Amino acid sequence: MVFNLLNFQLNFLNSEATQLLNDSPTMKTIAEGNTKVILEAENPTQIVMRFKDTASAYHGIKRATIEGKGALANRISARLFGVLAEAGVENHFVRLLSDNEQLCLKTEVLPLRVIVRNVAAGSIVRRFGIEEGTEFRVPVYEMNYKSAQLDDPFLNEHTAVAFGFVSYDEMALISQTAHRANEVLIKFFDSCGIRLIDFKLEFGRTPDGRLILADEISPDTCRLWDRMSGQRLDKDRFRRDMGDIIEAYKEVCERVKG
Ligand code: UDP
Repeated sequence: MVFNLLNFQLNFLNSEATQLLNDSPTMKTIAEGNTKVILEAENPTQIVMRFKDTASAYHGIKRATIEGKGALANRISARLFGVLAEAGVENHFVRLLSDNEQLCLKTEVLPLRVIVRNVAAGSIVRRFGIEEGTEFRVPVYEMNYKSAQLDDPFLNEHTAVAFGFVSYDEMALISQTAHRANEVLIKFFDSCGIRLIDFKLEFGRTPDGRLILADEISPDTCRLWDRMSGQRLDKDRFRRDMGDIIEAYKEVCERVKG
């Protein structure tokens, strides 16, 4: 089977460069990706997620160290998962531990990403030749298999079930959760003067078999535009060499704190 357990573990972070490490004298490292390190927590049902100051795009081809980015992504992701939890969208976030660390439930992260789009930007613009900024009549849901080597090929619900990643019932739950998360986040960002253009979700399986939201939700994984000016407040500033990355992430952090 191509999609073996190791592959599952290696996909724990959204990077093919993920590797199993074991080098921390205090907390044992479970895995390290481009932007985060996953460490063992005292409680075996939990993990510590440490956000790095690394920015990475185009499958890690473009990389840079941006001081302070990890702490901002940590804080923003914590807040957004908190907002989702309050709205009944179950997720892995437990609590903030430090500037760049948060405690999360340990899950087996599925090897797929769900992308939700409200407005055309990024790869969908290139693929369909549509104008950036075009509002979709209904949200677009896409899924891809996490493999930089294979260029993250698209999956549909049948492929995901056929490959044994999920059942049809779980696929339905994933769709419902993505839809609900979009509704909640659109409303929340709107209250912060931000348009939620698109974002990526990952799902993890808990030891008792439930699928919950995992990984992170931050300007690294969303496109966020200032409602008034249209200013980009997300990783596109890094992808497109627009500068002021930290300023943009700080702006988001300030606004989502309320
Ligand atoms: N995204 C992500 N991780 C990925 C791929 C996409 O977090 O591996 C996010 C990305 O930041 C954007 C949305 O998903 O908010 C849609 O990304 P897109 O398909 O447009 O790809 P991109 O142009 O960002 O490479």
